[in-house]
Amino acid sequence: MATVSEGTRADSVTAIRAARAAFDQGDWPRTPERERGALLLRAADLMVRDKAAFARAEALDTGKRLLEAEYDIDEVVSCFRYYGGVAGTDAGRVIDTGRHDAISRVVHEPVGVCALITPWNYPLMQTSWKVAPALLAGNTFVLKPSELTPSTAILLMRVLEEAGLPAGVANLVLGAGAEVGAVLAQDPDVDLVSFTGGLATGRTVMAAAAQSVKRVALELGGKNPNIVFADADFETAVDLALTAVFLHSGQVCSAGARLIVQDELHDRFVDEVVRRANLIRLGGPFDELTETGTLISAAHLAKVTSYVEGGLAEGAVLRCGGNQAREGALANGFFFQPTVLDDCHTGMRVVQEESFGPVMTVERFTDEDDAVRIANDTKYGLAGAVWTSDAGKAQRVAGRLRHGTIWINDYHPYVPQAEWGGFKQSGVGRELGQAGLAEYRETKHIWQNTRPEPQHWFGESLSRQSPLPTTEESSR
Ligand code: NDP
Repeated sequence: MATVSEGTRADSVTAIRAARAAFDQGDWPRTPERERGALLLRAADLMVRDKAAFARAEALDTGKRLLEAEYDIDEVVSCFRYYGGVAGTDAGRVIDTGRHDAISRVVHEPVGVCALITPWNYPLMQTSWKVAPALLAGNTFVLKPSELTPSTAILLMRVLEEAGLPAGVANLVLGAGAEVGAVLAQDPDVDLVSFTGGLATGRTVMAAAAQSVKRVALELGGKNPNIVFADADFETAVDLALTAVFLHSGQVCSAGARLIVQDELHDRFVDEVVRRANLIRLGGPFDELTETGTLISAAHLAKVTSYVEGGLAEGAVLRCGGNQAREGALANGFFFQPTVLDDCHTGMRVVQEESFGPVMTVERFTDEDDAVRIANDTKYGLAGAVWTSDAGKAQRVAGRLRHGTIWINDYHPYVPQAEWGGFKQSGVGRELGQAGLAEYRETKHIWQNTRPEPQHWFGESLSRQSPLPTTEESSR
């Protein structure tokens, strides 16, 4: 569908040097924040103008249906508009020093050169969560999208150029993570690395960044609990349980892949989930009847298959799916049947690790304490949901879950004003919201003495004492 240049380590170094020069000698870091925000708003307008091209490129790269890709581009535009809109609203703080002769200010400054490394599941959306706040804060950057989905990053660079971004501020390198990405994480000229991807790669990036003590922001995986109490609205909870895990064929970091359902509701609920999962229509991105699309690659299909096989070997009960989908034209792609594995528990690998495919595991719980204990029994902590008609119970459970986003009687929505990120091994730092901007800002304290006078602390003690006796006086 397209040919792109594959970058080398040398390309990464060239891009870093360009970003460094643009930061150290260019105007961008010193451009008033309102002007930087205005550029983000112009870029958003250009993406609205070019939405069809962006959405088509995203759908072709990822295999997700066009409608979803269009939603994604809307989210990208919202992110740019949010950060464009907050420009100039936070000029730092003036501190009350308790003195009349001093001014003390805490101000924000850009961090410097940022390496932005992104995954393939929401290519431009994940990129926008980094690029928009990085630019607003006055940084320069080198972006490395997944080698599987580079197209919309290329389109974004064109839009930024058209919006008037000075040369050298935004740089793009394409190629394999272990090559071009590794250089970005290591190079001492990079001040911050912001990475979204898998846990294992996140650890590698963090270790590489430690050599030059870079700032590190990590958005890693999740294995997210979707807790359904017996008093939940049945029809809606079933419907959203399907969306939680099967959206984009499960290739969503916050996918509700762990259905945790109360004992007395289990049979009826799972039967209905399975009935509807069997009806899900797989297909290509431009088929209007498609409900969800293909997995990203043959390698990923093999990984998802091995997790299902492993789960069955661990004792899970297959309720539907379980295999590659091969009917008709599907055989030409990497489609996987929506899969439900029942009788699961937290001791299983298929429950603990991300399959990142359309695979729902079902666990049961007895009461509130049991639900919280099971939901928190994971090294991850990205997102989760609780379904109940008891508002007090919903708040209690939400408060006890060790996950960065909690939905009550809903699954998946987010807004750019609210922070996104993980507890535990789901990451370090936050994206979106005020904290998402703070990641890209240095904090500086500036103190000014408005009436400077000597303090006489040093080197003057002798002159303040009575003079030493002269030789003549001592002999007397
Ligand atoms: P990977 O960790 O495989 O890759 C992510 C990015 O890192 C890619 O651009 C990749 O390049 C690059 N990379 C690979 N190796 C290195 C390296 N040594 N140094 C620097 N960069 C490197 O993740 P996936 O692309 O497979 O994405 C799926 C993962 O992302 C899932 O675990 C998912 O949960 C997580 N994710 C988390 C989100 C969150 O908000 N917390 C959101 C979305 C996804 P390349 O692949 O081109 O070689």
